[in-house]
Amino acid sequence: MADTIFGKIIRREIPADIVYEDDDVLAFRDLNAQAPVHVLFVPKRAIASLDEAKASDAELLGKLLLAAAAYARQQGLAEQGYRTVINCNEHGGQTVFHLHVHLLAGRRMHWPPG
Ligand code: 5GP
Repeated sequence: MADTIFGKIIRREIPADIVYEDDDVLAFRDLNAQAPVHVLFVPKRAIASLDEAKASDAELLGKLLLAAAAYARQQGLAEQGYRTVINCNEHGGQTVFHLHVHLLAGRRMHWPPG
């Protein structure tokens, strides 16, 4: 798949406010935050979109969600709650084609999300 801005962040070619890292996942604050807490959880091994994910990506996808949940718990966000979002392709609102999980917290979320 084509390189993206998130690939550059993973390789430390451009700066980001990194809040979590392990062997498989990098998490950093969204440049254009939509909530008091807005962190992106990104797999180091790129998958373009959820539509491109394969059965062999199941463990990596699980790690992304669990990393987001663990971060929320550690930051004291879990009791009040938070939202995780994966945008997919044009109608889903995806703009960066390196799959990522948005973690939004710190305010009440609305539904439907629009
Ligand atoms: P998407 O629209 O693909 O679901 O989410 C992409 C997100 O990446 C957007 O919320 C956007 O604000 C964020 N973003 C785009 N470019 C950068 C960047 O260079 N640095 C950071 N930290 N976030 C970015």
